[in-house]
Amino acid sequence: MRLTGDVAFATPFFKADEPAFTLPDLPYPTSALEPNIDTMTMEIHHGKHHKAYVDNLNKAVNEGKLNNKKLEELLGQASKYSPAIHNNGGGHYNHSMFWTLMKPAGGGDPTGPVAEAINSTFGSFAAFKEKFNTTATSRFGSGWAWLVAKDGKLNIGSTPNQDNPLMDVSDLKGQPLIGLDVWEHAYYLKYQNKRADYVNAWWNLLNWDEVNRRFKLQ
Ligand code: MN
Repeated sequence: MRLTGDVAFATPFFKADEPAFTLPDLPYPTSALEPNIDTMTMEIHHGKHHKAYVDNLNKAVNEGKLNNKKLEELLGQASKYSPAIHNNGGGHYNHSMFWTLMKPAGGGDPTGPVAEAINSTFGSFAAFKEKFNTTATSRFGSGWAWLVAKDGKLNIGSTPNQDNPLMDVSDLKGQPLIGLDVWEHAYYLKYQNKRADYVNAWWNLLNWDEVNRRFKLQ
């Protein structure tokens, strides 16, 4: 079965001969995010890294006889499962979300209900952006920076490796609205050690419609 977007996260019905999870297609060509994110990075990041998370997750759920679990269920109880499910489950969720949170000619000021929430929580978009950038650039090693919503409140934080705010092992909890991949594989070909330059360029791609869609899910 070929699934895209959030549908890829919820696969309760499966046939025994099918993998539980599938690599979603990118919602745009690999060259579409140039010059902010280069084509080769997109090809490797989606076609190799994300694919490996999906393949390794399928292997782990088959071995653990967990094919009937939704991805969110696996993540919510990550502490109960093997490191393979914890890490590759996180990798699959995070990247499936990451692709949809970018679009060519995205960026600009926030829109809709999330714009109001950002202003009331952080004072202004500029103040929010500064805090998010600091969080993204100061995450030591590999991980993700997040904007989450919980009980109607917004919060910024980061997680290590492929952890995310849906996991019981995460200090930061909530519905992910924005997730930014700060692993070196996300930017090293173009930006090398300059993570801050990658983060600044990524703001030009942010898909505020998708952030608002996720805001309504909480
Ligand atoms: Mn990545």
